[in-house]
Amino acid sequence: MTEITKTEAIVLRKTKFSDSSLIVELFTKDYGKISAMLKGARSSKSKMRSKVDLINCVEIVFYKKESKDLQLVSQANLINHFIFIKEDLDKLKFASAVCELLLKLIPEHEIHEKLFRGTIRILELMNTENNDALLLFTRYLLFFIKEIGFEISMDSCSSCGNTLIESQKNAFSYADGIICESCNQNKTLTYEFSEELFNLMKCLTSKINNLTYKKSQLENIIFIIEKFLIYHNSEFKGIKSLQIL
Ligand SMILES: [Zn+2]
Repeated sequence: MTEITKTEAIVLRKTKFSDSSLIVELFTKDYGKISAMLKGARSSKSKMRSKVDLINCVEIVFYKKESKDLQLVSQANLINHFIFIKEDLDKLKFASAVCELLLKLIPEHEIHEKLFRGTIRILELMNTENNDALLLFTRYLLFFIKEIGFEISMDSCSSCGNTLIESQKNAFSYADGIICESCNQNKTLTYEFSEELFNLMKCLTSKINNLTYKKSQLENIIFIIEKFLIYHNSEFKGIKSLQIL
């Protein structure tokens, strides 16, 4: 069965194929992550050439084949190319990291509409001036892990279930999430929170907008979440986009 269908998509990866075609990994609103072929998309006559570029949000028309791993895209219309992200190396680094998480950590064909909307939202925010891309990325990372099924409780210890007290030495266990001071005594592979960092992470997972933070604190939070993801996904080796640029 083949049906012609339309959906919004974020371009995560592009690979050259044959003389003039492209294979792309797309995160779509309605079908989750898919791989697709764009025939002739690298020729100068192709209307898709400039539209289907990394990080862009496009509306695609494709022939959906249930039996095939590779879908065939027939048309692409540009929705947003996030020009200010691409003109700023720092923004580009964090937007690439967003794409990398989607590329590496969500399985194909799993539908995540809320994650799709949240991703578009964060790219739109990164694309506006005066927004700290590091802060936006840290917030996105916490939202992302929740959406893929690793919600981290900031209220109760993930080991004993007791209420977490801010003034105590709470820790982040790469296996379990946040644990209280007494549970931390018999665990390895943990990161001990300062009260400040614990509170910041709590604020980041809430709707609070006026945050005071240091760059290094956000980097610490990214570091521990990255370790947590590596612990739970044997094939994931960390966020490369944050290391290169
Ligand atoms: Zn505990």
